[in-house]
Amino acid sequence: MHFQTKNVHFQEKVSADELSKTKPIYQTSAFAFDDLDDMESYFQGEKSYLYTRNGNPNTDDLGKGVADLEGAPAGVATSSGISSILAGVLSVAKSGDHVIATEDLYGGTYQLMANELPNFGIDVSFVNFADEHAVREAIKDETVLLYSESITNPLLRVEDLARVRKIAQEFGLKTMIDNTFATPYLIRPFDEGIDLVVHSATKYIGGHSDISAGVLVGLETLLKKARMKVTNLGSNLGPFDGWLGCRGLKTLSLRMQKQSANAEALADVLRNEAMVTKVYYPSAASTAGNGAIVTIDLGDGYDLHTFFRSLAWVKIVPTLAGVETSVTYPAGTSHRAMPKSTREKLGVTDQMVRISVGIEDERDVIDTFLKALQAAKIS
Ligand SMILES: *Cc1c(COP(=O)(O)O)cnc(C)c1O
Repeated sequence: MHFQTKNVHFQEKVSADELSKTKPIYQTSAFAFDDLDDMESYFQGEKSYLYTRNGNPNTDDLGKGVADLEGAPAGVATSSGISSILAGVLSVAKSGDHVIATEDLYGGTYQLMANELPNFGIDVSFVNFADEHAVREAIKDETVLLYSESITNPLLRVEDLARVRKIAQEFGLKTMIDNTFATPYLIRPFDEGIDLVVHSATKYIGGHSDISAGVLVGLETLLKKARMKVTNLGSNLGPFDGWLGCRGLKTLSLRMQKQSANAEALADVLRNEAMVTKVYYPSAASTAGNGAIVTIDLGDGYDLHTFFRSLAWVKIVPTLAGVETSVTYPAGTSHRAMPKSTREKLGVTDQMVRISVGIEDERDVIDTFLKALQAAKIS
């Protein structure tokens, strides 16, 4: 099956006595058995469900749906992107191990790795993954995992996945990539030899800004361990959120196609606004498009507050990826906790705005941003 077909045909068939066209919501904490033999059959692997913290048809559907699109054999859905990242890291690293992560990580991932993983006895080094030499230099005897993002936030650096895989193979390390910004519609890291791929399904997988969820996919051996972590840490996703995630996922192809095209058009127009200091938008992220996030640096020519106040129907929200266009202010939200010097070293300035482009008519999107720039111009 091709991508767009798999995108709508990932759910398991409902049982013969069910006539529901869509999958019912298994809004249950546990599953009932006829007798002890019936219950034993779960432990013999003949039945799939026992207790929702161990697994539930709606959350399993979401894990399977994303795994299918990523070309991976197994997946698990969890309560958030962050809990999927934790489950993935813990399926590879244990106390005493060392992880190397890119320094331009999503803020929440940085917090997890810098403040929580050391409590599990896992040491993390943050290095510039654009510099191959720096990654190699950071490898120690204890290193087990290389961690990066396929498209970074908010500067939209496209990771060289082949290079990450090559270094890992040379040193016998595992690899894990956060594919949230790209989605499998644009980039499929597992196909490029990456071991674990993680998503904040809160973003494009769900697509409607109505759930908090994560999905981890990869090899069955690692996913078996990751599922155990999710069960033991209690970071399972609720059935209704799993169901909503599946509903959102079915339109991923259409949304990404439209949102990417709108973003490309907006980036082109903004590049021609001579007073905008810089427009960040990838040029060759994939053959299917370059994603739906455009980051701009307003520089000295515009008043930041007036710009944000002049955006009409565009919402200011600390998230991305919904069907509605929205903006965020990285220096004040995702990168707020970072010292200004570190932030500026990464290139995240005080005048930077991250735009998450939605599915609206491209002309309205462009018009709204041009009007806001006009209003905010410092004469
Ligand atoms: C939002 C996000 C996360 C964290 O996901 P949550 O669902 O908020 O836990 C991780 N990585 C990236 C790239 C994100 O955008």
